[in-house]
Amino acid sequence: MKVIEHLKKAKGTLLSFEILPPLKGKDIRSIYQGIDPLMEFRPSFINVTYHREEVIYKERGHGLLQKVRVRKRPGTIGICSTIKAKYDVDTVPHLICGGFSREETEDALIEMNFLGIDNVLALRGDAVKNEQHFIPERDGHAYAEGLIRQIALLNKGQYLHEEEEEAAPTDLCIGAACYPEKHSEALNLSTDIAYLKRKVDAGAEYLVTQMFFDNAKYFAFVDRCRAEGISIPIIPGIKPLTTPRHIQFIPKTFHVDLPDDLAKALIACKTKEDVRRVGVEWSTAQARELKERGVPCIHFYTMGRSEAVRKILERVW
Ligand code: FAD
Repeated sequence: MKVIEHLKKAKGTLLSFEILPPLKGKDIRSIYQGIDPLMEFRPSFINVTYHREEVIYKERGHGLLQKVRVRKRPGTIGICSTIKAKYDVDTVPHLICGGFSREETEDALIEMNFLGIDNVLALRGDAVKNEQHFIPERDGHAYAEGLIRQIALLNKGQYLHEEEEEAAPTDLCIGAACYPEKHSEALNLSTDIAYLKRKVDAGAEYLVTQMFFDNAKYFAFVDRCRAEGISIPIIPGIKPLTTPRHIQFIPKTFHVDLPDDLAKALIACKTKEDVRRVGVEWSTAQARELKERGVPCIHFYTMGRSEAVRKILERVW
């Protein structure tokens, strides 16, 4: 079922999880181990991220360097299909512009449709490591807006090269990303929301936010989006901090602020367990307030770690 149908039918706040494909060489059991402890909370859908190749340079002697492209976490669509079949839960593969030509994008969408997947989260992706800016493929999309447009056209039966009568339309529900604290490259929140509106006009049917640690920022962002004419559901995404490494890694990687009270509590932590406790308590309070205020769904970034999310859900769900 489509995410948008889940949201329309919902009588209260829904729940969704986001997971990562395992590192290359691991098998599907590592995914099951991450999901099994969470399934009793009956998520409406599970997202699986997409990881672009990384560029590495290998020494080849005589001062020569060989440029090699490596994908560490392949398998997004296959994992979605397997989870859907095993747990009878809807899945949302992430699809990015980076590294994809329009033809390759179409192939991926055909595969999703063929496997009975009803949803896709359409993203641009980040710049490859070692590159300053995002560079699209020669025939690829420069922004998520273009990707959304391509999916919307495919949903009308407009393939890149086929005659209409030869290929049936797909029927994929399109989600897109948004950033309550603005995207790192955006000039300011106003321009970011203006581009967000273009994604919605192109065919995005719902939005999922970047993680945030201050609910007030989410509510203010939703208000601004509504004022700019964005009326589709905006699903808040939250992530419990679980290790001391997160304290540096999360603000730097996801360009989000930690509120003063959370920062103070984390600085006062003496052990890993203290950090985990503070992280879980903070996200529990966030989830409780979001649920009380009737958000359409809470999306948990599990990053393959179910323990902390389970603790939160035991208290809130
Ligand atoms: P866009 O919407 O294209 O925006 C990118 C930037 O360009 C923004 O600054 C925006 O203001 C600006 N912009 C947008 N449209 C235009 C336009 N038409 N003209 C000029 N400027 C424009 N990354 C992954 O690699 N894999 C994942 O699985 C993944 N999952 C994610 C899930 C969520 C919920 C979120 C919030 C992010 C995810 N990301 C993922 C990260 C995402 O790919 C990066 O944040 C990326 O830098 C931006 O993607 P976007 O789709 O928001 O880009």
